[in-house]
Amino acid sequence: MIKPTMLNKPLRKGYVQCTACEHWCAVGPGEAGKCGVRRNIDGQLQLVVYGKAIAAHVDPVEKKPLHHFLPGNPVYSIGTVGCNLFCQWCQNWDISQHRDFDPETDYIGEDLPPEAIVAYCRGHNIPLVAFTYNEPTVFFEYTYDTAKLAHKHGIRTIYVSSGFETSLALETIAPYLDAANIDLKAMRDETYRTYTGARLAPVLRNIEHLARETDIWLEVTTLLIPGLNDSDQEIRDAATFLAGVNPDIPWHVSAFTPQYRMQDRPPTPAKTLYRAWEIGKEAGLHYVYTGNIWGNPLLADTGDTFCPSCGERLVRRSGYHLREYWSERGVCHRCGERIAGVWR
Ligand code: SF4
Repeated sequence: MIKPTMLNKPLRKGYVQCTACEHWCAVGPGEAGKCGVRRNIDGQLQLVVYGKAIAAHVDPVEKKPLHHFLPGNPVYSIGTVGCNLFCQWCQNWDISQHRDFDPETDYIGEDLPPEAIVAYCRGHNIPLVAFTYNEPTVFFEYTYDTAKLAHKHGIRTIYVSSGFETSLALETIAPYLDAANIDLKAMRDETYRTYTGARLAPVLRNIEHLARETDIWLEVTTLLIPGLNDSDQEIRDAATFLAGVNPDIPWHVSAFTPQYRMQDRPPTPAKTLYRAWEIGKEAGLHYVYTGNIWGNPLLADTGDTFCPSCGERLVRRSGYHLREYWSERGVCHRCGERIAGVWR
């Protein structure tokens, strides 16, 4: 289905500027923006994947990953084709890098309008919807309508995002968004520009904005790639930045495996994740979690939640399986410390 976009500005000579992400594409007649799915048709910027899900799965919320947001709950997770970033290690590259989508000939995805997403959640007692797999901003209007309808029925919503939205996009979706996991891919602008086509500054700005100026629950993920962003200094820079914004932001440091156009590097070793976990704690972050490597003895405790005040273990995680020790979620049973998060 094709739907006019909400986020755009008319320019001269039939061009339309997309105002959804920080690429600010000026899209000429008949052309598409960098993401491939926002296209200028007859002078109007249209979203050509509205209601067209290429992926729709029920996942645990821990897989997003979100560890402090309604733990143990299922999430109906939706993605389309197209993306505004070009990460050379993308794990969903077969859908995200599908570009220059021609809506006349190439209807890719299952018909899944917002009403069907919400009906599925209600019919299966699923309390959460996530926009994930590719960047939600590129199918913004589909997420907006779904999130608005979901809220009407008491279903909460999640963005799993690269954080390259415009401030306008974030402000527009904010009333209908409950949680976000933002990917902080590196702390070097050059790495962003060379390997993703994006820039660092808007991502840092959006993390600060979400954490300080909204009620949207925020967690952050960094994929550690050998030789690219895994030096002690760069890990410390990321941790220090996040701790400076808010030490209660949970930070997920996860392992890379060779994918797509980045086959020339080895997988991230467990010891790198452990080092990052230590650096994150040293920098003052209260909750640091490792991900993508399971069953390694070095990482036996690094997926667990500990009380930042007394050190008591509150939640043990094994992959996506949870064992909770606290008698009341969000409160340390030993010292009474409040644990940041959304627990009900
Ligand atoms: S969402 Fe797509 S069309 Fe819009 S500015 Fe970003 S890349 Fe360009």
